[in-house]
Amino acid sequence: MVAFERRELDEIAARLRARREVLAAEIREVAERTGGETQRTIGGGVGDQADEAAASALLDDERAAVRRDEQELAAVEGALARIDGGTYGLCVACGEVIAPARLEANPSAARCINCQGRFERAHGMSGGPSL
Ligand SMILES: [Zn+2]
Repeated sequence: MVAFERRELDEIAARLRARREVLAAEIREVAERTGGETQRTIGGGVGDQADEAAASALLDDERAAVRRDEQELAAVEGALARIDGGTYGLCVACGEVIAPARLEANPSAARCINCQGRFERAHGMSGGPSL
């Protein structure tokens, strides 16, 4: 079963690669910035506690953002691998064709809407399917 033509896959792959670049750059940028912060916190120890708390709260936000970026990056990598493997557009859980509108909104979607809902419930994610 083929969900997409070669030409469409090439376009989707180009979009996914562009997204991958953006995510990788964001992750790199935050890693460089927070890498310095972490160093300072570890090395300090006797600094102002309020400053350290504020710095560590900021760090938590950045880490959360990086985690989201990393998860999306993994999804993008997975989608690119499925394009190479010829299974792009098929749900990784049930093998059915993923709705084109869903892929249009989220090109790295790995599951059909039904399986994504099940997956998110199984993993305790709230808010239902994101896209
Ligand atoms: Zn499915």
